[in-house]
Amino acid sequence: MCKALVVLSGGQDSTTCLYWAIKEFGRENVSSLSFDYGQRHKIELEAARKVSEIAAVAHEILPIDTFSVLGGNALTDDINIDDSLPEAGGSLLKTAEGSLLKTADGSSLNTAEGSLLKTADGSSLKTAEGSSLKTAEGSLPNTFVPGRNLIFLTFAAAYAYQRSIKHLITGVAQTDYSGYPDCRENTLISLENTLRLGMEYDITIHTPLMNLNKADTVSLAEKLGAMDAMAYTHTCYNGEQPPCGHCQACLLRAKGFSEAGTEDPLIERFQFFSN
Ligand SMILES: [Zn+2]
Repeated sequence: MCKALVVLSGGQDSTTCLYWAIKEFGRENVSSLSFDYGQRHKIELEAARKVSEIAAVAHEILPIDTFSVLGGNALTDDINIDDSLPEAGGSLLKTAEGSLLKTADGSSLNTAEGSLLKTADGSSLKTAEGSSLKTAEGSLPNTFVPGRNLIFLTFAAAYAYQRSIKHLITGVAQTDYSGYPDCRENTLISLENTLRLGMEYDITIHTPLMNLNKADTVSLAEKLGAMDAMAYTHTCYNGEQPPCGHCQACLLRAKGFSEAGTEDPLIERFQFFSN
């Protein structure tokens, strides 16, 4: 049986991919790899370790602390996260399927699929397939770390080569929130080709979530039996645990679970402890 390596951030998408790989390749053939890239929130690495433990797969962390030296992004530098959505008083936005996300000031975020997320000031975040999440200035948000996925996958491919692993799995998606150019299908196809040529190695990059929206990903995670691990994933851009509930990452996670009609086991875990 072929061996497979999952690039695991500790978030919900890569965790779903880990369970996808276990189903496709068999648990004994799957391992996971995370990167210590100087991220502000080491909680991500702890989440990846815990998820791998629950999934019973080998896990390794590679140190590549270079992005913080490159500078200019909110995930490694001590600068504010672009957060165009209004604050919601710190509480997680609970929504019934198909309803509107209510903000603290009583305005609403329309979240129907393919529609725009309206912010309080009337500006909008485009979430249609293939588009980018644009900030008010029209540029990519400062949570975009230039080159990150390209470098992760190149290191992962080199790691895989040394271990005769021919399948890489990454949780990138070009729908919903991920308007980042290094998450798009054409980028990944091109990178796979580059890696094959550059290493003379028959490696395949699998992107099982590429064309799924967040709700589809939640449904897939449920189907794959990933919910026990999902309770220990980390998404919040503010690095908070329990999650802050108002950053873009938290809002989109909540939207996905809401539209899938499923309780988020991460939220349930903290509710359990607070009761
Ligand atoms: Zn958050």
